[in-house]
Amino acid sequence: MENTSNLFGTYVYPEPQFVRGAGVLLFDAEGRDFLDFSSGIAVNSLGHAHPHLVNALKQQAENLWHTSNLFAVPGREVLADRLCQNSFADKVFFTNSGAEALECAIKTARHYHFDKGDVEKINILTFEGAFHGRTLATIAAGGNQQYLEGFGPKSQGFIQLPFGDMDAVDAAVDEFTAGILIEPIMGEGGIREHSSEFLRHLRQLCDEHDIVLIYDEVQTGIARTGKLFAYQWSGVEPDIMALAKGLGGGFPMGACLARETVAVSMVPGTHGSTFGGNPLAMAVANAVLDIVLEDGFLDHVGKMSGRLKQYLAEFLDSYPDLFEEIRGEGLLLGLKCKIPNSEIAVALREAGVLVVPAGDNVIRLLPPLIISEDELGETHQRMDRAFVLLAGK
Ligand SMILES: *Cc1c(COP(=O)(O)O)cnc(C)c1O
Repeated sequence: MENTSNLFGTYVYPEPQFVRGAGVLLFDAEGRDFLDFSSGIAVNSLGHAHPHLVNALKQQAENLWHTSNLFAVPGREVLADRLCQNSFADKVFFTNSGAEALECAIKTARHYHFDKGDVEKINILTFEGAFHGRTLATIAAGGNQQYLEGFGPKSQGFIQLPFGDMDAVDAAVDEFTAGILIEPIMGEGGIREHSSEFLRHLRQLCDEHDIVLIYDEVQTGIARTGKLFAYQWSGVEPDIMALAKGLGGGFPMGACLARETVAVSMVPGTHGSTFGGNPLAMAVANAVLDIVLEDGFLDHVGKMSGRLKQYLAEFLDSYPDLFEEIRGEGLLLGLKCKIPNSEIAVALREAGVLVVPAGDNVIRLLPPLIISEDELGETHQRMDRAFVLLAGK
C-alpha cells in the first residue's frame, strides 16, 4: 500500500485514534473507552490529565516557559534535591529523553576515568536483550543488530555479554573497562529481572576495579516496580542512574543522577542541553514527585500489583495454551505468551484494554500507578472476554 502520510514511515499506527484521556482511561473519537495498560510505555505514571499535574503545568505556562541553561530555574534545584534526597545520588543533570539521560551517563562514566588520567578506560559492558534508546551511542549500548544495521559504524566501546552470566562479566573486565550498564529489570527485552545476587556481584567487581556501575531505570524508575527505584529491591546502589519515562508523567524529560565522586569532573563545557531542565518539565516532575512521595503511595502500588498478579495467575491456569509465565515487579508486569504476543495485544485492544508487546514474546501490563481495585476488576473482565475468544479459536 502506498504511504500517503507526510510522517516518516518509522511507525505504523493502529486504529483507534485517541482524543482524550482521564485517569486510567483513553477515549477515541466515538467516545469508546479503553483501559490504558500501556501508559504511553510506562510514562503516564499518574494516568491521563491528573489534576495536580495539569495545574502545575498551567501555572508554569502562565509564568515562564524557557530560559535555557544560560540561567538558573528555581524548580530545577528543588527537583534535583528531591531526587538526591530519595536516592543514592548527589548530583543531577536534566535531559529531554531517556536516551539523552543514557548519553549523559555514558559520557560521565568515561569522563570520570579520563579526568583521573585513565584515558584508555572507555569500554562499557552491557547485556544482550537490553534497550537503552535509539541514538547512535545507545543503539551500540543495546547491541540489537536490527537497530544498528544500516546506520554506519557502530559507536565504539560497547561490549554485550549474555544475560545474567557472572563468569562472562568476570572474564570481560579488563584495564579498558570504564563502566557496566544494566537495567535492573529489562523492559523492552521482555520484563527480564536481574537477580539481587547478580547486581551485588557487579557492585563488588566495580568496587574492586574502579568501574562505574550505571543503572538504566528509565522504565523501572519512579515507583513503577513498587519502590521509588527498582534497585531498592536489591539494595545494591549504582554510581550513575538514568531516569525518564515516569518522571515527567507524560511531559518529555529525563535525568542522569550520579554520585558526587563520579560527577565531579563534569565541569562547565563538558556537557550541555538547550532544553534540558526546562521550567515546564521541572514544574510537572515536581508535581509527579508530590504525589509519588506521599505516604502510602508505594503501598498502593504494591497492593494493586498483588491483585493484578492474582488475576494473571488465574489466566495462566485458565488459558495454558495462551500463556506460560508471569514476570516483573510492581506494575511493571509481563505475561510470556505461547501464541504471538501481537495477536494477544490486538485481541485485548478489541476488548478495550491496551497493552504493550515486548521482546521474548511477552506482553507488558503497565497501568497508571493510580489504578484502583475496581478498575483492575473491570480490566480482568475485559481481558477474560478476549482470552475466551482467543482460546476458542
Ligand atoms: C524507553 C527506554 C529508553 C529510551 O528512552 P527514550 O525517551 O525513548 O529515549 C532507554 N532505556 C530504557 C530502559 C527504556 O525503557
